[in-house]
Amino acid sequence: MDFLTSAAHHPSSLLLAVIFATVGSFLTVDLVSRVHRCNSISRLNWLFIVAIICGTSSWATQVLVVQLNGAALVPSALIGSLLANLALTTVGLAVALRRSRSIQPEVGGAIIGFSNIVCFNLLMKVAGLGVELPTSFDGVALAYLACVCMSAGAFSVAVRTDRRSTRVVGSSLLIAMLGTLTHIALPLEVGVVVASGGHDLVIPSVAIIMSAVFATALATYNIEHQSRLDAIEALRNYSVIDSLTGLSNRDALKAHISELIETTDRTTAKVAVMAFNLNRFRLVNDVHGSEAGDHILKTVAGRLQAALGPNEFVARVSGDEFYAVKSGIHRKADAVQFANKMLEIVREPIQWNSAKLDITARIGAALFPNTSERVDDLISQADIAMCRAQTATDDEVIFFDPSVDKAKRDLNALSIDLRKAIDDNEFEIYYQPQHSVTTRQLIGFEALIRWNHPLRGMISPADFIPLAEKTGMIHEIGAWVIRESCLQASRWDETIKVAVNVSANQIMRNDLPEIVHDAIARSGIDPRRLELEITESGIVADERHALAILNRIKGLGCSIAMDDFGTGFSSLSTFKKFPFDKIKIDRAFISDLATSRQSNAIVNATVGVGRPLNIKVLAEGVEDKEQLAILTEIGCDEVQGFFFGRPVPASEADALLRAARLAQQGGTSNVVEFKIGGR
Ligand code: C2E
Ligand code: MG
Ligand code: MG
Repeated sequence: MDFLTSAAHHPSSLLLAVIFATVGSFLTVDLVSRVHRCNSISRLNWLFIVAIICGTSSWATQVLVVQLNGAALVPSALIGSLLANLALTTVGLAVALRRSRSIQPEVGGAIIGFSNIVCFNLLMKVAGLGVELPTSFDGVALAYLACVCMSAGAFSVAVRTDRRSTRVVGSSLLIAMLGTLTHIALPLEVGVVVASGGHDLVIPSVAIIMSAVFATALATYNIEHQSRLDAIEALRNYSVIDSLTGLSNRDALKAHISELIETTDRTTAKVAVMAFNLNRFRLVNDVHGSEAGDHILKTVAGRLQAALGPNEFVARVSGDEFYAVKSGIHRKADAVQFANKMLEIVREPIQWNSAKLDITARIGAALFPNTSERVDDLISQADIAMCRAQTATDDEVIFFDPSVDKAKRDLNALSIDLRKAIDDNEFEIYYQPQHSVTTRQLIGFEALIRWNHPLRGMISPADFIPLAEKTGMIHEIGAWVIRESCLQASRWDETIKVAVNVSANQIMRNDLPEIVHDAIARSGIDPRRLELEITESGIVADERHALAILNRIKGLGCSIAMDDFGTGFSSLSTFKKFPFDKIKIDRAFISDLATSRQSNAIVNATVGVGRPLNIKVLAEGVEDKEQLAILTEIGCDEVQGFFFGRPVPASEADALLRAARLAQQGGTSNVVEFKIGGR
């Protein structure tokens, strides 16, 4: 009975042999190709797995073929040949998979080919089928050589190429190697059933072993695939999840909104993007420490997450800044309802040690597609609306309104520019002359700041000082004005004073006297030449504190003027309490002095109060001769206004001063002759 006749009698054995050879070869090439590209720790583990698959599958194929030839194999022969094949295959793989540019894969593959020849010959010998070792370069030697070459080729392809064809070409070579070995190298006279009885047990045993090996390989593949997916997912989560709270972060928020923009039918449904900050969060952080702050953030985040319904999403983008998104809404009321739900969750008290922390929030919202169809716009619109919500009287959600919020946006942009202006030194001081009414002589200048904006041109202090006060930048700006004005005054005549405006915020701080002292010391001017102008708002906020600060400044030798008198709430009795040296009557009373009996009466009364208290009175905004005449008649001490000169840059103030000196020497008044245009 020859091999084919035997195979015809045992088709299932032949089929099994083909299956083992094919699956084993494919897995071997696939794994070798993967293992070659992974790191060293996994490489070693994978090497043993490949060795088991490669060694057992080729061994099983050979066993089945030997069986097909009617040989009986005893268990020791089976185990011995298996171990020999496994050992040599492991060595071959270790060589093939060493990282080297030389011919390691080919050498390793050749070792594995050789291992198969050894194993096969061992099996045949044990089975008593006789071994035909080549004595000369005959057909068998050629077949063995072909086997070694095909195995070397298979591993070469697996290691050196990474194409779609790699697995097919590599496994085909291995299959061809096994085919050559088990058929061509088979001694042709074999075909006698040497023994019987083992046949029935060997095939099922080999089938069971191989099923177990392939099942293990499959499970390993699955584990590897799953852990790769898990790693990718973890990596993805890592970049879109806020690590403190576990909520989505800004990237995830943007991705979510842009997906909603893509998928929402804008004709029927809307998407609400809401922004909210936790009020008093910073305070709690300061008072109870950052651990308490983290606890609040985590608790709020957990509660928000737990309360989310379908189509709802929440993210923390930084600090205490949260965003919530609701899609598929049809009426504004749905958005309001969602916002109220968020607000209620935030308002639930949070326990921290023995303290109960009360947190609140204000919510601003933007609606897609109503206000914008762009992700970034929607986020910043919600943000702007939230800023407006902070100043609202009750805590209902505020929706972005383009007309209302434009002014706010402009202001935000301006405050960014203002910060830059400080750093880039975009400010300049203009000086407006002040004159004595009796002598008409120039007695000093008021320092008035200007902002030379690179794009908007010259910006009036009336437009940016309130912003500087609100943002706290006034401290830096104000200190600079004081320093710069004193330096400028040091270049003028000893008799010329400089008046500097000081905001209420500057008085509220304790360091104003030091700033003034420093400016005087640096410039070296007589402190009596520096006058600080403050408005009523500068003293009403905290009278005692303001009084203490003003007294310290007066202690340095400087004088204090009350600016814009008549426009605020203060009464004439203020002058009893505060150490003012001068009252500056607001120009609102000067402009209609000639026509309004009321303004006339107020100016009269002010001069009447100032004189006995030894407080000088200056009239602001004097624009014509008639006003000057009335003020002279009333007995006003000093004047300032366009009639005498507009605010001018320092160089022009110097020129004005030189002209005044000349006029004085010539014995004339310097009022009309030297008017220089300014701002
Ligand atoms: P102020 O201290 O009452 O300054 C007088 C303002 O009246 C100046 O406006 C000046 O240009 C304007 N003015 C003077 N004479 C006339 C006139 O005859 N007619 C009219 N129509 N206006 C006249 P400016 O320079 O725009 O300053 C506005 C306000 O900005 C100042 O009012 C002052 O409160 C504030 N300010 C200016 N510079 C500073 C500063 O360095 N620090 C602080 N905190 N405030 C400043
Ligand atoms: Mg002033
Ligand atoms: Mg004024």
